[in-house]
Amino acid sequence: MEKKFRKIGVLTSGGDAPGMNAAVRAVTRAALARGVEVMGIYGGYSGLINDKMIELKARSVSNIINRGGTFLYSDRCDEFKTEEGMQKAIETCKKHGIDGIVAIGGDGTFRGATDLSVRGIPTIGIPATIDNDITATENSIGFDTAMNTVLAACDRLRDTCESHARCNVVEVMGRGAGDIALNTAMALGAVAVVIPEVAFDEAACMEKIRRLRADGKRSFLVIVSEGVENFSEGLAKRIQAETGVETKYACLAHTVRGGDPTLSDRVFATKLGVAAVERLLAGESNLVLCQQKSEIVAVDIVYSQCLDRYYKGTLKDGMLEKFSDAEKAEMEKAIAEKKEEFRKYYRMINDIAQ
Ligand code: ADP
Repeated sequence: MEKKFRKIGVLTSGGDAPGMNAAVRAVTRAALARGVEVMGIYGGYSGLINDKMIELKARSVSNIINRGGTFLYSDRCDEFKTEEGMQKAIETCKKHGIDGIVAIGGDGTFRGATDLSVRGIPTIGIPATIDNDITATENSIGFDTAMNTVLAACDRLRDTCESHARCNVVEVMGRGAGDIALNTAMALGAVAVVIPEVAFDEAACMEKIRRLRADGKRSFLVIVSEGVENFSEGLAKRIQAETGVETKYACLAHTVRGGDPTLSDRVFATKLGVAAVERLLAGESNLVLCQQKSEIVAVDIVYSQCLDRYYKGTLKDGMLEKFSDAEKAEMEKAIAEKKEEFRKYYRMINDIAQ
């Protein structure tokens, strides 16, 4: 079976995430160790369409395990969503003798991977997004680094808040997911967190800040997920007006995307990169590697996308029909557990902010 694969391609696509380089390195070295050549495709799917790629040798991926961003660059490529673009990409694969692809990115990247798989190019997806918004996996490359970046920035804000007896409202990335906000709020001892998954009780937050200030508390942090749109700056103004506590506002924006990957992200990226090559060379395809109950498992990409849409309430007509009752029940259980986890930790953060 392994003989079928002489050459594979690797690409990074969609939003960049620290640890993508570590994943490319692992994919490259794992393939080379098995006698398989590797092409690094530049700029995600646009590199496949426009034939922008480079052969990766062991030394090509030296000294990148520690670097943020992606040295293969990333892109959002709408042409790839068209049949014409897809055919160009397949022609490029044929021209270079690429027998399979490891696609590193988020849910959009996996939709593209499915399109390649069904047209005869075996593809394995590796989840890399700081937002951790792929429902089938507990973790994604870049998530840990992003949270640590938020932590470092907010620890600095906390120092100055304490000196001046202030509150700081901080907006953090996460797209539609509150994962970064929820976890960092817990790690920072924030007085409140605002996430899309749980309704925010603003009156209770104001009351708590007033009460804690009266009790002598000097500094306050409130973490807001960007998924709660156009909210954080106004909240800062309202906190100052309603509690009398001077309140500043900061949006960390894309600073949260950059920086050296943490140990956790490097280890995760390395494990996923090696597992992707093993699966691809074993003849598997159209899978996304996920972490579930701390284990790395392979999930059918279409199942993963359906679960994601089910969770996010964006299912299209007929999507669920492909799945058995047992699979639907499994999805519903996973969704209920994830939602309950958000509620549980949201309550916990509020309970211990005293
Ligand atoms: P992410 O992978 O981080 O979710 P995007 O949603 O921007 O990022 O997707 C990355 C790329 O994947 C897109 O620019 C496009 O090339 C490809 N892609 C996204 N959706 C589809 C789709 N429905 N069909 C084919 N390719 C897609």
